[in-house]
Amino acid sequence: MKNKAVIMDRDGTLFRDSNYLSNPDGIRIYKGVLPALKALKSRGWKLIVGTNQSGIGRGYFGHDTVQKIHDRFTSICRKNSVKIDKIYYCPHRPDENCECRKPRSKMIRQAEKEFNLDLSKCVVVGDKKCDIDWGRNAGAKTVLVMTGYGRKASPETRKRAHHISKSLTHAAKWIQTHEL
Ligand SMILES: [Mg+2]
Ligand SMILES: [Zn+2]
Repeated sequence: MKNKAVIMDRDGTLFRDSNYLSNPDGIRIYKGVLPALKALKSRGWKLIVGTNQSGIGRGYFGHDTVQKIHDRFTSICRKNSVKIDKIYYCPHRPDENCECRKPRSKMIRQAEKEFNLDLSKCVVVGDKKCDIDWGRNAGAKTVLVMTGYGRKASPETRKRAHHISKSLTHAAKWIQTHEL
């Protein structure tokens, strides 16, 4: 049997989007996110995060900084009995034309292999056009959240998403009440 996963954007979806966040103490997880993740996990969803971190390619910070932020995030999750299965990130600048920068689907393809996912049963949640295109490009369902940059999304992006939710917390409820 293949697995299902909720594949989430990081900034503006799980926690506040602070432009090029480089301080692990600056993480501000949105209210309700931890219980929502816990509920999804208990219903068999893998929890996967994928984030574009071009601040590395631009020389603003190194891999170690991103790693520290992710370690802090996963440790907060762990303290709340939530196990994040994996966080993928793309360190490249847009002009490097890599295969992993969202909306290209390499990060999701890696997760597919690593966790034996059925992508048609996976849901991608994010606050930007690139997240919705990312999910669509991989053949997953997509939810646009109204946190982060969500409210600035164009009518086309809103239409392209399978569903629109106020926040990740609401998205998690939608995911659990719809047979996907
Ligand atoms: Mg985002
Ligand atoms: Zn990349």
